[in-house]
Amino acid sequence: MLDGKKFGLPCPKCGHKTEETIAWIKAHDDFVCAGCGETVQLDNKRLLADLEEVQKSVAETRKSLRRMGKRR
Ligand SMILES: [Zn+2]
Repeated sequence: MLDGKKFGLPCPKCGHKTEETIAWIKAHDDFVCAGCGETVQLDNKRLLADLEEVQKSVAETRKSLRRMGKRR
């Protein structure tokens, strides 16, 4: 559901964030930094764990919104 969302991949060398979609990140092992041209290995396990956290918080927000709706 979040696959089309853009995610900023920070470059360890120059700190520039290269934006790629989550679907793209899942399909690749590395990316080329748009700031310095360095090829950066994607720490997919950590990234996807972060993304899961994002997904969870989105789900939580939806749940609480629904709860608020019911109260009305
Ligand atoms: Zn860079």
